[in-house]
Amino acid sequence: ASGRTPLMAGNWKMNLDHLAGTHLVQKLDWTLRDGKHDFAAVEVAVLPPFTDIRSVQTLIDGDRLQLKHGAQDLSAHDSGAYTGEVSGAFLAKLGCTYVVVGHSERREHHAEDDDVVNSKVQAAYRHGLTPIFCVGEPLEVRQAGTHVEHVLAQVEAGLAGVPAEQARSIVVAYEPVWAIGTGEVATPEDAQEVCAAVRTKFAELYSGDVADGIRVLYGGSVKSGNVAAIMGQEDVDGALVGGASIDPAEFAAICRYRD
Ligand code: PEP
Repeated sequence: ASGRTPLMAGNWKMNLDHLAGTHLVQKLDWTLRDGKHDFAAVEVAVLPPFTDIRSVQTLIDGDRLQLKHGAQDLSAHDSGAYTGEVSGAFLAKLGCTYVVVGHSERREHHAEDDDVVNSKVQAAYRHGLTPIFCVGEPLEVRQAGTHVEHVLAQVEAGLAGVPAEQARSIVVAYEPVWAIGTGEVATPEDAQEVCAAVRTKFAELYSGDVADGIRVLYGGSVKSGNVAAIMGQEDVDGALVGGASIDPAEFAAICRYRD
């Protein structure tokens, strides 16, 4: 919407090893190119597990594919005694454009609070990665009707100390927790309400110019059958797609929502 290039990003979660991952990338690319997909008009990114990234990078670079790639998480630290963690510096060296930060599954299963998420947003910027910064309310907050306040508090906390020059490139993903992996999609109006509120928050925190430029994605049970209605909303600039992104035909159809 409004001159912003839509982004369709596929979060594979902990699915597809590097062999299956490279197969998926090839099939996705063939399907998109077969349909004459205009990658400049709708950007497409894959977000594989860490262990797949080198293989995916080699394929994308070697065949000059127009797909972008990124990671699902990064360490808040740059290097050192953090066993099991992966630095943004390493991801940058593997050609990653994007890194997901603050996914609800990280917040829930790995106790990532807003401070950790903020440190990771800052770490992403230190290494030239674009955060796909996830926010969203659990069911009980939605039922209490305080979802907008909840999400805006997450936005403000996640961006603490991030200057406008960095914030202007961010991708925010509004993902209501009750819609992730449940098959229960938010209505287009629900998505628009929160995505518009996020944009207004950026205008308050930074400027109207920054707010107009940032991309706000919706995520939560997006499929080829519901994506067009969601993308029809003024403040929705793409989708973060989980389950449907590991089926190349389905994800390609999502990317081609305009057809
Ligand atoms: C996600 O993992 O970010 C997501 C939105 O998952 P799903 O599309 O499966 O709901």
